[in-house]
Amino acid sequence: MPERDYMMLVITGLNAKKEKLYANDHKRGFEDIPLHYSFHRLLEEVEELKAEFMKRSEIGIDPRTNYAALRAEFADIGIFADMGILECDRKLARGSQ
Ligand SMILES: [Mg+2]
Repeated sequence: MPERDYMMLVITGLNAKKEKLYANDHKRGFEDIPLHYSFHRLLEEVEELKAEFMKRSEIGIDPRTNYAALRAEFADIGIFADMGILECDRKLARGSQ
């Protein structure tokens, strides 16, 4: 079995998330984001992704599939997941379990 290129996957997500972060630089930053906020925003972003999917019944077959929009919504989910991970890391560093 060939070695999986995990870094390719991480870098791909990183690039998409970075684009969204810079595009939304005017919004609230990621510093001191409470865990519950990241969680609820992530769920909202899942709904946005779902809405984007529901625009097309045949994703990948329908030539009108908007991959840029889908990519952006996947990136949003990743951003709020990262904010949650960051806050967990902060709590772990302070000795929480
Ligand atoms: Mg979104």
